[in-house]
Amino acid sequence: MSAPDLHPTKCNICGSDVVYASNAEVYGREYGNGKCYLCTGCGAYVGTHWPRPREALGILANAQMRKGKMACHELFDAMWRGKNHARSKRTRLYLWLSIQLGIPFEECHFGYFDLPTLRRAYAILRVAEPEKIWKELNGE
Ligand SMILES: [Zn+2]
Repeated sequence: MSAPDLHPTKCNICGSDVVYASNAEVYGREYGNGKCYLCTGCGAYVGTHWPRPREALGILANAQMRKGKMACHELFDAMWRGKNHARSKRTRLYLWLSIQLGIPFEECHFGYFDLPTLRRAYAILRVAEPEKIWKELNGE
């Protein structure tokens, strides 16, 4: 795993050509900025940045990866969303997770994870205890 290519031309899953396309091709109508990178082989896709519509938000994802990403986010977000100091907790959680996964902090985004990494992240998050994490990060 490494930092994703933000202008992908080959699919990270199957190696086929990737086209820059309207996201109506995957959603049936245009959403957001209306753009995505779409694999011509397996149909995996990734949305693009607002307001930089040429910049991919991560690596191309298939249905399994999208499901994994949602499952991880559910566990992850429950640990910071709506809590005191939510934004700082969120940042510290990403830091903590990057240490657990052994990856650079800058690359610790669920949209950057391939399927094996999503599975590892899920296994870590499933047993994570937020109170212990805050203590660990404070060096207590
Ligand atoms: Zn593909």
